[in-house]
Amino acid sequence: MSTTQYADILIVGGGPVGSTLALALQNQGVAVTVLEAREQGASHLDQRALALSYGSRLILARLGLWTELEPEATAINTIHVSQRGSFGRTVLKAEEHDQPALGYVLSYGALSAALDKALLGFPQIKVVYGAEATAINPASDAANVSYLHEGVVYEQQAGLAVLADGGRSLGDIPGLQRETKHYGHDALVTKVQCELPHDNIAYERFTAAGPVALLPNGDRDFSLVWTGKADEVAKLLELEDEVFLHALHEHFGDRVGQFLKVGKRLSFPLRLSYLKTVTAPHLAIIGNAAQTMHPVAGQGFNVGMRDAWELAQILADTDSLAWGCDAMLNAYQASRQADTRSGLKFTDFLVNVFSNDMVGLRSVRALGLGLLDIVPIAKNRLVGKMSFGPRG
Ligand SMILES: Cc1cc2nc3c(=O)[nH]c(=O)nc-3n(C[C@H](O)[C@H](O)[C@H](O)COP(=O)(O)OP(=O)(O)OC[C@H]3O[C@@H](n4cnc5c(N)ncnc54)[C@H](O)[C@@H]3O)c2cc1C
Repeated sequence: MSTTQYADILIVGGGPVGSTLALALQNQGVAVTVLEAREQGASHLDQRALALSYGSRLILARLGLWTELEPEATAINTIHVSQRGSFGRTVLKAEEHDQPALGYVLSYGALSAALDKALLGFPQIKVVYGAEATAINPASDAANVSYLHEGVVYEQQAGLAVLADGGRSLGDIPGLQRETKHYGHDALVTKVQCELPHDNIAYERFTAAGPVALLPNGDRDFSLVWTGKADEVAKLLELEDEVFLHALHEHFGDRVGQFLKVGKRLSFPLRLSYLKTVTAPHLAIIGNAAQTMHPVAGQGFNVGMRDAWELAQILADTDSLAWGCDAMLNAYQASRQADTRSGLKFTDFLVNVFSNDMVGLRSVRALGLGLLDIVPIAKNRLVGKMSFGPRG
């Protein structure tokens, strides 16, 4: 059986980015429908550690969520960047950049729980959990979305459909072209405990095999992101805990002392992937659905949050009759292009230059890190960019 419905604005995907958009729109008095494939609460136990920029914190504060989330988040006050086998290094400190923190580490589950609770509090937001979109077709008068809910297929038309599905569920959508670069590397993620306290310092260490990051998470723990060739990472997943901790110490060095404990290890493939245009008639694509980046610079999630925020501002400034029309969508595309492109380029640059053992590059990198450390204006620009995107 099929039933047709209509929504002015329909968001496909109620992850962090789709939910942020729904809440930002309701802040502006705009009603929305959200289709979320998972059952309610299913994401609340996801321990994935998100690296929030200071700009993302400000977005969450504007949505009235930061007071509730702050106790769950661990501030990053210092970022220590180094490369294995050389003395070049740079240290970024929040106090040198007039920010209370350079960023925060927050679990995906805690963020999802706060966002879901907020969504339920607003009658203008209708969330359909367990609703999986199976097709989206942009057309000249509306976007047509098919979805499955409790065994029933629904057809929904929307003045504006927003795809925020994380980029993994819906295949090719007519009119959209995706570019993808596979790095052949995977990221291993887990939590580790070390001998020394973290003191709210995040460490990023570049090695010829790929970057490795330790992000302070909770009172004692670090979240570890260890990247490397897919087959090497697969071997690391199989190691006994003791052997793994020893291998990590060998790889990372002694900056945080011995590694004492490790949690469950997971891995995922690393790729750079983006849509050449993030709009089609009556459709906008945001968050990881629009661009996926290597985690080296912690940019991907934060670019997605800015997508959501910017789209909400543009919709609020546009007459509702023009939602989903070319002029509005072009304005959105133009407003996001610089931020997305610079995030993609910056991330790809770091991966190419710092995860490469070409003769001579190591000393150039050491010089680069050393110079960055002593040139305050360069550090300011880097921190501004990482916190707020190109406007930082
Ligand atoms: C395995 C993995 C591990 C990661 N680890 C880290 C990490 O350690 N640190 C970090 O900073 N970033 C990490 N990331 C990236 C981070 O998760 C993303 O940047 C962030 O989740 C993007 O948010 P989003 O809302 O765009 O997408 P998502 O978080 O993917 O949310 C998409 C939502 O859409 C829903 N959905 C999907 N398909 C449909 C459909 N057809 N119909 C309806 N709903 C649908 C999903 O159920 C989900 O709720 C990881 C990503 C992956 C895939």
